[in-house]
Order: sequence, then C-alpha cells, then structure tokens
Amino acid sequence: MTTRRNEVHVLFTGYSRPDSNDSSVMRANCTCTLIKTRHGRNIIVDTLTAWDGERLTQVLQSEHGLQPQDINVVVCTHGHSDHIGCNYLFREAQWHIVGACVSHRDKYLDCPLTREDSEPFQLCGDDVTVVRTPGHTLSCVSVLVRDSIQGGVAGICGDLFERVEDIIDPSIWTEAGSEDTNSQRRQRLRMAELCNYIIPGHGQGFVVTDQMRALLRQQLDSTSDRKI
Ligand SMILES: [Zn+2]
Repeated sequence: MTTRRNEVHVLFTGYSRPDSNDSSVMRANCTCTLIKTRHGRNIIVDTLTAWDGERLTQVLQSEHGLQPQDINVVVCTHGHSDHIGCNYLFREAQWHIVGACVSHRDKYLDCPLTREDSEPFQLCGDDVTVVRTPGHTLSCVSVLVRDSIQGGVAGICGDLFERVEDIIDPSIWTEAGSEDTNSQRRQRLRMAELCNYIIPGHGQGFVVTDQMRALLRQQLDSTSDRKI
C-alpha cells in the first residue's frame, strides 16, 4: 500500500482586474500549477503568457529542481493566450493538451476529449485525469488529481471558476466571459461535487465546502427553472 500522495503546487497565483489607469483594459494572468505525481511524472497546467518564460523556468528550478525538459505533459485548460503562452518551453513533453485537443509536434490524437461525455483522459493511471468542462469556452477541460496533498481530489479547473468569490457573486465569472453559461453552471456544480479542493483560473486554491456546493446547486436550479 502506498502512502505517498500526488503533489499539487501552485507556481503562480493568477489574477484578473481592471487596469488602475484605464478601466477599459483588463490585467490578467492565469494561475499556473505543477503536479508531481507519486509515480514521478511532472505535469504543468496553464502556462501563463508568452512573456513569462524566464520567471516560470526560474521557479521550476528554484522551488522544484526541475528543468523544462523534466515536464512530461502540458495541459492548458483552454486556449486563451494567458493560459498557453509558455507551452514552447516544454518541447520534451509527451503531450500538449490545449482544451480538448491533444497533440505532440504535428501529430494530433483522434479527439479523445471531443464529446462532453468522453471518458476521462488519463495522464498517470487514474491518479491524474483530464475531463471536459465546457462553459467559459466550449473546449474547456479540467484536471483532476486523486489522493492529492490537499486531501482527496484536487481539481484544476481553469476559468470554470474565476476565483473563489465567484461562488457568492456569479457576475464575476459571467462577466469574465462564458460561451455557454448553462453548461458552465452545470460543470461548476459537477466539479464542486467531485473535488475536495479547487484551483480556479485566476485566483488561489480553496477547500470546497458543502455550503458552496449547496449554493452552486441553487444557482443551477434557479436558472433551469426559468428555462422551463
Ligand atoms: Zn483565463
């Protein structure tokens, strides 16, 4: 029996806010996360903007003793520029997964994540899986890490959740842009029910409470009522 857990480390905590000098401009960068599995695989999720290569390389080295070539898989929860910018650093990785698209060099897998009900795509047995969570974009995915050091399942959910506050104030995620708000509401509840801990797209990780789950269920129920 193994007692080792899968490590999930936030390398950079994301943010999104209006520019202090020009309210028509947003300042945003993603939360960037490293998974070190108990079987020795290194997976990076969401790679900041293209201007962040130096500091990302630095943190991998100083905090984890890793070189870019030590990263085995790159996952971007979706294709927006602040989530994919440094993918170029990780050219030794087996896969680059950008939303539902899985590729290596010019080779593209035949859509393992195309459908919403697709089987989870396994990255390290079933310790780390990628699942479809359409909403913010229709191609969005989340990464689930079983037996995490946070306790139970950690979900790296990208912009399905902007930050923890958007559970109380849903205008935060709807105003951040959503290609399908109904689907996003469903997926938010689904992930909250699956996960003990969630890392959102632009904020700090948080423990998922039953109160949060109840609120997300309420938000889903009240909008589906209106639809009927
Ligand atoms: Zn984002």
